[in-house]
Amino acid sequence: MPHDPLATRARLSEVRYEIRGELARRARELEAQGRELVKLNIGNPGAFGFRAPDHLQRAIADRIHDTDPYTHQQGLPAAREAIAAFHRARGAIDADAERVFVGNGVSELIDISLRALLNPGDEVLLPSPDYPLWSAATILNDGRPVYYRCKVANDFLPDPDEIEALVSSRTRAIVLINPNNPTGATYPRALLERIVRIAEKHGLLLMADEIYDGVLYEDARFQPLAPLAGDVPCLSLGGLSKVHRACGWRVGWGVLSGDARRCAGFQHAMDLLGALRLCANVPGQFAIEAALQGADTIAPLCAPGGRLHEARRAVLDSCAASEHLQLVAPSGALYAFPGVVGDAASGFEDHAFALELLETEGVLVVPGSSFNVPYRNHFRVTLLPEPDVLRDVFARIDRVLQRRATA
Ligand code: PLP
Repeated sequence: MPHDPLATRARLSEVRYEIRGELARRARELEAQGRELVKLNIGNPGAFGFRAPDHLQRAIADRIHDTDPYTHQQGLPAAREAIAAFHRARGAIDADAERVFVGNGVSELIDISLRALLNPGDEVLLPSPDYPLWSAATILNDGRPVYYRCKVANDFLPDPDEIEALVSSRTRAIVLINPNNPTGATYPRALLERIVRIAEKHGLLLMADEIYDGVLYEDARFQPLAPLAGDVPCLSLGGLSKVHRACGWRVGWGVLSGDARRCAGFQHAMDLLGALRLCANVPGQFAIEAALQGADTIAPLCAPGGRLHEARRAVLDSCAASEHLQLVAPSGALYAFPGVVGDAASGFEDHAFALELLETEGVLVVPGSSFNVPYRNHFRVTLLPEPDVLRDVFARIDRVLQRRATA
């Protein structure tokens, strides 16, 4: 092979992020031709008419003239203190501003934290299905994703025995996404306690992606991981994108907890990698105190009568009425992950289905296999549209499935 100086990184061929991939490109082509589409591929509240709360917008507007300089690489001290206090208030008693890292969204912190941790060949235990950035960042930081299954039959909850059986001499971390994207599962306390004990026994880092921590339906409760982890090293991730509907501001944070001596090297590496990218977006950081000290603005949207509650209800009702769909009711987050069953499932291939749905019905969904599952009969939709839009979408989905079932 001739030497090609512009050849890209070989491991990129292993990386997929289909939420914004081929199907999304095809959707843009169709739109350019004048087609009207319903795009349910991204959990982007602003694209569905949600706005960040006024008090967050004011917090930025009031201080926009202070936002010119870089901040400390870990973030503005007052914002970090607000994050630490928020975590202490929910039980992480050793949360400390010195161990808070503000990033350009949780996305950047996922990458930085895995880069800080991994050597070539190191393994990270990831949920399957996962939010695919976790797999991508593991691979691009020279690690190897090892998946623990969150099975439909177990309401998408993981089996701690399976997690423990997957631990090897190369395992570095266990990643938990709770509430989960794409499944909407919220993890019970007893399950989290079991997983903490596994991390403790094998000396692993816990990485808790809790970006949907306030997006909860019906009687679901969110149990943060850090208070249960105690001395076990734990990086808890949260941000403004979802709970505060401000994903364009690119604000996320990571809070490191657990035995300070054991965490020191990782903390130092996070700080160094943070310094190399100078700092996170500064205007957004001014909204953090307002977000964490102000009123809970997501709960009313998730409560009966609230927009997200009613959207979820529309999806539950539509799936219950369909003979082709099976849905584990999401108890948190912004998505539903239905499975295709019965006659329509025979020979079903999720990409082909998603493309057909886009071309014939103008609806864009994400094929389930994009979330690193071995099966091909699921797809993900976001719950962000108006309930009536979702009812109409599921009528269109059913039309395609009906055609397939009778073909
Ligand atoms: N983690 C999960 C589970 C997500 O669903 C997302 C975005 O959809 C992110 C992290 C990244 O969020 P952001 O970078 O906007 O903070």
